[in-house]
Amino acid sequence: MSKGKRYTCASCEASIQGKVYFGEESTHYEGKPLCQSCYYEDEPVATLYRDRDEEPHVISLTRNETDGEFRAKWYSTDPWRGRYQLSSESYVMVFSDAILAYHESEAMLKELNDRAIQRFNEVGIDFYRAFLRTSNLFCTDYDIWVKKDPAQILAAHLILQGIKKEVDYNNPLYSTGIVFDRETLGKLKTVLRGKYRIETDSDVMKLVQEKGESLIQEIKNQIGTSENVL
Ligand SMILES: [Zn+2]
Repeated sequence: MSKGKRYTCASCEASIQGKVYFGEESTHYEGKPLCQSCYYEDEPVATLYRDRDEEPHVISLTRNETDGEFRAKWYSTDPWRGRYQLSSESYVMVFSDAILAYHESEAMLKELNDRAIQRFNEVGIDFYRAFLRTSNLFCTDYDIWVKKDPAQILAAHLILQGIKKEVDYNNPLYSTGIVFDRETLGKLKTVLRGKYRIETDSDVMKLVQEKGESLIQEIKNQIGTSENVL
């Protein structure tokens, strides 16, 4: 770096005195120069927790503490409203809802959250819980993401199905259908080929309801015997 080169903070536009920070990979300010306070004091857009860990992993416009596992992007519904949404190459969203402050569903979602942490942990599911900022101060989006692995995703859905019943979670928007990403559905088709007819994720959903735990065991066994599949 040439001596005397002056950087202007990409966020507050002040001339940077002292150490220059750069926006981390997978953030809004990726690679852009930032002053210390803009780098550190930027408000998180997403806060993630891995497994039962209580240490938060923050994504802001300048920092990404998820080692690039997750990206956050703003989606506006109109000029005044919108929400941040996550994407990931290696994790799949298995649950999403909005936590509305002071609404009666808040306690139900807290209960669902607590039970999910405990049971996912018991069976060794690799997961993240994410809390995301929206334009509504009283609304936080809440997601659960599971490692992109067919057996783990199915186990997570099965556990969530049980928990939803227990906590009386009956919002039709979220209680119908499992949505797999294409890649996972493709893997499941390959693994279960010849034994079951699977075309869509609702076929998998029916199988899950019919077979439960034994389907997951079967998938695990199949994966073990066909090493090139995954
Ligand atoms: Zn600044």
